[in-house]
Amino acid sequence: MTNDERAYDVVVLGAGVSGLYQLKRTLDLGVRVLAVEANEDLGGTWYRNRYPGARFDSESYTYGYSFSRELLDEWHWTERFSPQPETLRYLNFVADKFDLRRHIRFNARAQAMRWNEGDARWSIHLQTGEQITARFIASCIGVLSKPTLPKFQGMDDFEGDSFHTYWWPNEPVPLEARRVGVVGAGATAIQVVSDIADKVGSLTVFQRRPNWSTPLHNSPISNEEMAAIRKRYDEIFARCSESPGGFEHTPDRRGFWALSKEERVAFWNHLYEQPGFALLNSNFVEIFTDEAANKEMSAFVADKIRQRVKDPRVAEKLIPKDHGFGTQRLPLETNYFEAFNRENVRLVDITETPIKRVTPAGIETSGDYFDLDLIVYATGFDAITGGFDQIDIHGTNGIRLRDKWRDGPSTYLGIMTHGFPNLLMIAGPQSVSGSSNFPRAIETGVDWVTRLLVHALSRDVIRLEAREASERAWGDAVRSAQRKLLLQNGQGWFTGYNSNVSGHEAGRPRYVAYWGGAVRYAAQLKDAEANGYSAIDMR
Ligand SMILES: Cc1cc2nc3c(=O)[nH]c(=O)nc-3n(C[C@H](O)[C@H](O)[C@H](O)COP(=O)(O)OP(=O)(O)OC[C@H]3O[C@@H](n4cnc5c(N)ncnc54)[C@H](O)[C@@H]3O)c2cc1C
Repeated sequence: MTNDERAYDVVVLGAGVSGLYQLKRTLDLGVRVLAVEANEDLGGTWYRNRYPGARFDSESYTYGYSFSRELLDEWHWTERFSPQPETLRYLNFVADKFDLRRHIRFNARAQAMRWNEGDARWSIHLQTGEQITARFIASCIGVLSKPTLPKFQGMDDFEGDSFHTYWWPNEPVPLEARRVGVVGAGATAIQVVSDIADKVGSLTVFQRRPNWSTPLHNSPISNEEMAAIRKRYDEIFARCSESPGGFEHTPDRRGFWALSKEERVAFWNHLYEQPGFALLNSNFVEIFTDEAANKEMSAFVADKIRQRVKDPRVAEKLIPKDHGFGTQRLPLETNYFEAFNRENVRLVDITETPIKRVTPAGIETSGDYFDLDLIVYATGFDAITGGFDQIDIHGTNGIRLRDKWRDGPSTYLGIMTHGFPNLLMIAGPQSVSGSSNFPRAIETGVDWVTRLLVHALSRDVIRLEAREASERAWGDAVRSAQRKLLLQNGQGWFTGYNSNVSGHEAGRPRYVAYWGGAVRYAAQLKDAEANGYSAIDMR
């Protein structure tokens, strides 16, 4: 298209699961493409989150890419829920197999992007100081790629080691005999605590609000099992594509109220023993919509916690009272609750006794003081929109994306946003990625975007922009789906809540993900394409 070596047909932002696949598909089109990655290496989530216990909650073989039979035949997952090092090896294997690495520029965060109407191109300013341009941008910057820290006084004064789990160092961190504090009680904290409780000297968990959590039931995958999985891959992916969450677990449609309470409890006892998100996703759909059904379900899980934690006062503190089961991201655990039966583990409720400050030697709460050698901030992410907010993105007429999305994102299918032509988002806000088994939705998104690119390139279309009306209609669909679910009242990243980010506080729900399910989402993408992309202005 152009001879300028800094001018690309497509620039992919990010080299995680989404970026690698988008890069592969775009390279196959034979156009000029470059991926730019903020980190010094590829893998995104699985490159950065190296904390002890980091692993999938998705079954490994439902998480891997499905697009290449060869890849499926060659890769051996060794655990049902792959640990971070293995997943990172997998993504490197993929990059090497498809020769992707030489098309990725590392340490190259996109800091600013400006749409130039005159030549219908984006100019992209990289952290390296370089300026490149692109006809199309495929943003694959991740929904959990901007970590957030709490704002305690004195955090910088702490003289031991301290870091957010996202920034867990590449080098081994000594744990033995050390006094460790973990701040947080979400999915990451639960993985860390489970993993390190028996390795550290002492462990103090500073918990503000507990989360529901159920057993992961991880297990190794033998050669024979992997061979059987390989034979079943078509069936596995077909099943995932039929389930609202993109998993093999599919909802039970018998009807919550059609069964007796005894039958329900027997069913839940069975699901509690199953791996992964079985209890969440193979359950009755009513638990997500019906207060009474959800209350009974929550009581069942609360009893499990009481049975597992010896000290009844500690058990009560670990049972959520402010939200029902399945209304926020469900962390999965391995002996998390048993960790609190150990002599060296202590739970501190910081709603009761708030953290006053971090001192050079530890943490002071309103009720006590804790000497620590290591503080682990497992305090999550500025989810879904955080990655966009940290890029200065100027669209048509100079409008800034950050300003447009100040009260929450607004998109067409989670893929485009009016006023920002040719910016195509994979796993974007209001797509289904935040609410499902990521790679399944990522592949759907990348495939759709790639076909849209083919459509545009083959017709010499140089400018694609979602129409305002299409964006409004999608916004309505996103809000309506969320309002049907009890999760609309949740205070987690599913509803755009984060007390450490101003404007994202409780009581101001943001509509950041599509909650109508992966099946319905895929159907809408299909319709949009079948309608000849009439919702998109093409020139
Ligand atoms: C601890 C943890 C566990 C998880 N477990 C699961 C699970 O079990 N199942 C599941 O489905 N999902 C899980 N997820 C969600 C996970 O993020 C996705 O599965 C998947 O890895 C997302 O891939 P991605 O490429 O979209 O985003 P990411 O992996 O976040 O990659 C985005 C990349 O973009 C780069 N980037 C960001 N901004 C810029 C910029 N401005 N310029 C250039 N590069 C940029 C980042 O550095 C990063 O490398 C987990 C997430 C976390 C944090």
